[in-house]
Amino acid sequence: MHKQMFINGEWVEAVSGRTREVINPYNQEVIATVPEADAEDTKQAIKAARKAFDEGSWANMPATERGKLVGQVADKIEEHKEELARLETLDTGKTLIESQADMDDIAGVFRYYAGLADKDGGESIDPPMENAVSKVVREPVGVCGMITPWNYPLLQASWKLAPALAAGCTMVLKPSEVTPLTTLKVAELMEEVGIPAGVVNIVTGPGSQVGAELSESHEVDLISFTGGIETGRKIMTAATGNMKKIALELGGKNPNIVFADGDFETTVDYALNAVYFHAGQVCSAGARLIIEESLHERFVEELVKRVANIKLGNGMDEDTQMGPLTSADHRAKVENYFKVGMEEGAKLLIGGKRPEGAQFENGFFVEPTVFDGCNTEMRIVQEETFGPILTIETFKTEEEAVRIANDSVYGLAGAVWTNDMNRAQRVSKQLRMGTVWINDFHPYFPQAPWGGYKQSGIGRELGKTGFEEYTEQKHIFQNLDPQPMKWFG
Ligand code: NAD
Repeated sequence: MHKQMFINGEWVEAVSGRTREVINPYNQEVIATVPEADAEDTKQAIKAARKAFDEGSWANMPATERGKLVGQVADKIEEHKEELARLETLDTGKTLIESQADMDDIAGVFRYYAGLADKDGGESIDPPMENAVSKVVREPVGVCGMITPWNYPLLQASWKLAPALAAGCTMVLKPSEVTPLTTLKVAELMEEVGIPAGVVNIVTGPGSQVGAELSESHEVDLISFTGGIETGRKIMTAATGNMKKIALELGGKNPNIVFADGDFETTVDYALNAVYFHAGQVCSAGARLIIEESLHERFVEELVKRVANIKLGNGMDEDTQMGPLTSADHRAKVENYFKVGMEEGAKLLIGGKRPEGAQFENGFFVEPTVFDGCNTEMRIVQEETFGPILTIETFKTEEEAVRIANDSVYGLAGAVWTNDMNRAQRVSKQLRMGTVWINDFHPYFPQAPWGGYKQSGIGRELGKTGFEEYTEQKHIFQNLDPQPMKWFG
């Protein structure tokens, strides 16, 4: 299968004619080829988005009409749910059931912003003078550059596309070069519902070319990026040229704090889910288990027993619980962390290697892994491994639990497990993170903002704030009875 990219309402090849292979991480088969765009293609896409914005037909369309079209994208995603989910699994290796859940969430995101499109009617202000009116309105920010990662390809794209469309922006989105297929499919669906040419452009290619051009271009008004901290830093620097607005959703190294008074069965179950979901390739993965010392031994014994039973395999098979990692490069990075953990003196309880067996030979598999005896001095605790690696730290007091959990450059998300609701409230208030779950892990939804404290990012996606990111506020003041001031002359 060959898929073209989408620029100015047309399906096109790269100017250079180059293509890239998209690989199934389960067996390394080529699923598709896509254009390998560079800065030249990106400039064309930016030009198309600029023209579509400046002509004004999308930005000035009544917000209710725009919302209707965004809602139709949600309908289309629901109609094509199975096809999209299968494509996402082939491309990322995640289990089909996870991809299906992603598609439900994605349709939900488009539906939420479809509804929000015409809800902000601005604000009327009572000005501090007579004979005047004053109002504040929101307008679309302009041309948006969007750069997405490979772990939740379409989900992360939807968090940007849906609010930007609803707000009246035009956009150029660069999916990860590793996983571009579902984003291209959704561009097809957007074309079908009648989103005008030039409003949404999808350019497939490497970050060093397409991403860098989007970040640097003076024709782009806002850059919205989801990915790693180091790339975020480069984008932030590149964005200074024209002072474009930036929204950064970066990494996380998220604590899962377990007090001894919680329900044992539920807490063990969720601790597994927190870290091993999508083989740990989740920005909000609960990769740091921080457990009360009195519960440590019993908890870890049970946890490791269950880790041994996790079924690895093809994401397409119904009984698979964990698929391969998404790329060979990423597996090399995760395997390096096995080495780092051992060198630092963390105690390997299980995993730390590739699984054995013919069925795993061609896939990018690693075993789910647990390191005990960890502390905040270790790289394995501080750095985002982005793989199925759980580190375990212990605490004696509530203060210690909070201090350990906050000892991180990241601040994306975290959880606290306890039946003492006063304690739950105290701890959640002290955690320096964008999301805190009490007696749960992972829930997010379109209505609530998502984003990080500290180096986990700048700005918020989802929720009302995720819409406002794509708007500028304008204050309009009118003097109803202008008279000469006689200040000069
Ligand atoms: P990455 O930073 O390597 O790449 C992300 C995107 O940036 C890709 O499309 C890539 O091509 C592009 N890119 C690379 N170099 C670039 C450059 N110089 N200029 C512009 N763009 C460039 O990240 P990844 O490995 O694809 O994704 C994993 C990371 O994403 C993890 O750190 C994870 O925590 C993070 N993430 C965060 C969230 C969140 O909501 N906070 C969600 C998902 C993933």
